[in-house]
Amino acid sequence: MSTAPSSRLLIVEDERHLAAGLKLNFEFEGFEVDLAGTSREAAALLARSTPYAAIVLDVSLPDTDGFTFCRRLRRAGNYTPVIMLTARNLAEDRVEGLEAGADDYLTKPFELDELIARVRSLLRRRAWEAARTTVAASASMRFGSAVIDFERHEVTVGEQSLRLTHLELDLLAYFAANPSRVISREELLEEVWKLRNYPNTRTVDNFVLRLRRHFEPDPANPIYFLSIRGAGYKFVAEGAALA
Ligand code: CA
Repeated sequence: MSTAPSSRLLIVEDERHLAAGLKLNFEFEGFEVDLAGTSREAAALLARSTPYAAIVLDVSLPDTDGFTFCRRLRRAGNYTPVIMLTARNLAEDRVEGLEAGADDYLTKPFELDELIARVRSLLRRRAWEAARTTVAASASMRFGSAVIDFERHEVTVGEQSLRLTHLELDLLAYFAANPSRVISREELLEEVWKLRNYPNTRTVDNFVLRLRRHFEPDPANPIYFLSIRGAGYKFVAEGAALA
């Protein structure tokens, strides 16, 4: 399975020497690379017609920061894989990056080989996901008046179409794959966020609230995304109160 469209990369990094070094090395690895030194330049490059296979995005930029840039990208419906670069190795940063819609995260200073390996793995994973969702019957699902097409990132509730972030869709997909089972917050952090032994489970609660706002007829009295006291959450596709 090819990772079409090609292996074009956008690197958004304002440190010129680092950016030039990355470009050279990725080109040596067979990638085509465009550089942007600011969010504004990156947005202009992204507005062109040829899509990128992935974006390497520095968090600290002279104009809009990488978190905000990524969030805007996702809100605009652009789901190009993003790997974020940051100077701080804090779990909060990692979570903020992932909540902003990044797919992976690397702390500066990093080994060039590791960045290249991560980008390759991101492209492989994307190709594999595309292959899997193409063959799987669960590429789309319905519950209540909601219809979700995971491959196309298309979500409608009744007549209304919604934009979900990558993480919201991932969480929804995990619930959909595990219907009517009580799932702990820790399991969700590990399986959806890929965070192990992360002490703060509030992120999960925030995302479940978002799913409720998207899909529950009455978010304050959920029938699909149920809280199970002291245990976690349970997704009931047929609707608990309707059963
Ligand atoms: Ca920077």
